[in-house]
Amino acid sequence: MELCFLGTGAAMPTGDRFQSGIVIGEADRRLLIDCGSGVLHRLHQSGIGYESIDTVLLTHHHLDHVADLMPLMKARWLAGEETQTIVGPPRTSEFIEQLFDTHDYMRDRFDLEVREVEPGHFELAGFEIEAVETIHSMYCLAYRFDDRLTISGDTETSQAVADLADGSAILVHDCAFPDDVEVSNHARPTELGELLADVDIGRVYLTHLYPHCSGREQELIDGVAANFPGTVRVADDLQTVRITASEDAN
Ligand SMILES: [Zn+2]
Ligand SMILES: [Zn+2]
Repeated sequence: MELCFLGTGAAMPTGDRFQSGIVIGEADRRLLIDCGSGVLHRLHQSGIGYESIDTVLLTHHHLDHVADLMPLMKARWLAGEETQTIVGPPRTSEFIEQLFDTHDYMRDRFDLEVREVEPGHFELAGFEIEAVETIHSMYCLAYRFDDRLTISGDTETSQAVADLADGSAILVHDCAFPDDVEVSNHARPTELGELLADVDIGRVYLTHLYPHCSGREQELIDGVAANFPGTVRVADDLQTVRITASEDAN
């Protein structure tokens, strides 16, 4: 399985990290997880292309995860695409309905399917997905895909997310601020490493970085690695990562 980080930033701009978005899968089955500001542009830059994004899975409805949803749909409509599936936590239908109320000329351009999911198991776009609720200022879901890849969404350190990630080849986790920033609703490196100390994960990619982290990326890595024995990386926009066959075999 392949994943491409489209946006590794958050709600405040850094100049090089756009807002949240990750594409997983390959040409025959592809899924966009979250669609913050800049993701449409990154989809084009990545070579994946917005045309191929038939299905979007949302972790939650904060702006930095949904701001490019309507622009994505408009671009796809202009490119002649006729279907769009949007899946997310409870109240996603109401949220999408309100978007179309605001931009009503976009109505009836697609065969639009909106689906709400809850913690537990579901299938989407050829992926087997497990979801748990995170600890955040808005209802948010973390997802595990095909047993190999876990994406935390926005969350404080959460035992439920750690349990979900246990056995994953890759965990992509919120690490919004360095240790010295007082914050709730997001994770910081040392507490994240402590949470994951005994969790079986091959590689952790840190994402959702606020400008407070700029120039301090190594500090984030060291903070997690102080307790977590696996590989730790800071994700960058347009970085592609592959889960290898040997990791799949673990
Ligand atoms: Zn959020
Ligand atoms: Zn966020």
